[in-house]
Amino acid sequence: MKNNIDLDFDRSHIWHPYTSTINPLPVFPVKEAHGVTISLEDGTKLIDGMSSWWAAVHGYNNPVINEAVENQIKKMSHIMFGGLTHEPAVELARKLLSIVPKGLDKIFYADSGSVSVEVALKMAVQYWFSKGYSDKTNFVTIRSGYHGDTWNAMSVCDPVTGMHEIFGSALPIRFFIPSPEGGFNGKWDDSQIRPLEEVLEKHGDKIAGFILEPIVQGAGGMKFYNPEYLKKAAEICKKHNVLLIVDEIATGFGRTGKLFASEYAGITPDIMCIGKALTAGYMTMAATLATDEVATTVCSGSPGVFMHGPTFMGNPLSCAVANASISLLISSDWQSKVNNIERILNEGLAPAREFDNVAEVRVLGAIGVIEMKKPVNMAVIQKQFVEEGIWVRPFGKLVYIMPPFVISDEELKFLIEKLLKVTAKQI
Ligand code: PMP
Repeated sequence: MKNNIDLDFDRSHIWHPYTSTINPLPVFPVKEAHGVTISLEDGTKLIDGMSSWWAAVHGYNNPVINEAVENQIKKMSHIMFGGLTHEPAVELARKLLSIVPKGLDKIFYADSGSVSVEVALKMAVQYWFSKGYSDKTNFVTIRSGYHGDTWNAMSVCDPVTGMHEIFGSALPIRFFIPSPEGGFNGKWDDSQIRPLEEVLEKHGDKIAGFILEPIVQGAGGMKFYNPEYLKKAAEICKKHNVLLIVDEIATGFGRTGKLFASEYAGITPDIMCIGKALTAGYMTMAATLATDEVATTVCSGSPGVFMHGPTFMGNPLSCAVANASISLLISSDWQSKVNNIERILNEGLAPAREFDNVAEVRVLGAIGVIEMKKPVNMAVIQKQFVEEGIWVRPFGKLVYIMPPFVISDEELKFLIEKLLKVTAKQI
């Protein structure tokens, strides 16, 4: 049965992500979603190219995860985490610690990716405070980065491409260095790491941490970089007494072809943020992980505790979903699925390199990016994608897909075919 969604009411009263209330672009009412198919209220079916912004790796309405939700909700959907604990939280910590880079040992459950970034930044400042370095409060990051929409997360986003340009003078001023060039497979050149060395040599006494997205920069530019950069960065941070914070919120849980993108560089960060696919697109949850050394230092001295504790911390429903999702991922042959998606993306997107309006095509793991020469007209392209039966949400010059891992070869080929058809006709 068709629901009667009042689109005028939605348009008049509801803010959607990054939109105006005055003249918002149309939104498409979704009735339901199963597997990789999104069904709109008018019966239109769309093959999902976005995994709901990197999250829905198992597709929608997965029976195993649904069952986990149903079982948990009968016990409790939420209970405060202050002074109490529960099996889903303990099981999740055990699971996560067995799959994240070795050396990460302590987990802070947060309620969204941005909050986990705030937590990471706070941890880094409190770490140095506990060691007696109360001036080490600032951060360095690379350009084209994106770390979320909350205040300090915004401050470490690229000031131009990171969507928060207008807040510039109100935000804390961070140190920005160029992001590595040359792509994932590009020839490595040690000069690329010099800006990090220079800033740490000059300002290391004021810098608590270096934060970056490992290997794939998401919403700040969809750029890939050579793992050698991350490897060298880890060495340099150690040498200069600066914590390395990796934001695996978009890259975590297999998306890049490794379970965590940090594995490409064989590094263990001091602090790591995860989110998005952690809960497979079902619930909002993220986490900040730290090494034992970081956590122990943070909690030594005064005040002796880590000063953060959100209401929905360790939400049992979210933990139960995460447990089911991680078990599904680990027990599935996720790596060959991602490799297969990568192969089909590479083959399928290649013709776009010849389009006059395309600047570059790049693929890594289950991520395919077409960088256009000019920003796309969102109102036009979004409608065309829907008319062709696919769900793709570009931004600026970037038309990109990261489908659920459960997509079949046929569905992926359909998605790519329609993506190219629409992309080719953009002016
Ligand atoms: N870091 C990265 C790398 C992200 O891609 C995002 C979300 N796009 C965030 C942080 C913020 O996460 P959330 O939207 O859950 O706050």
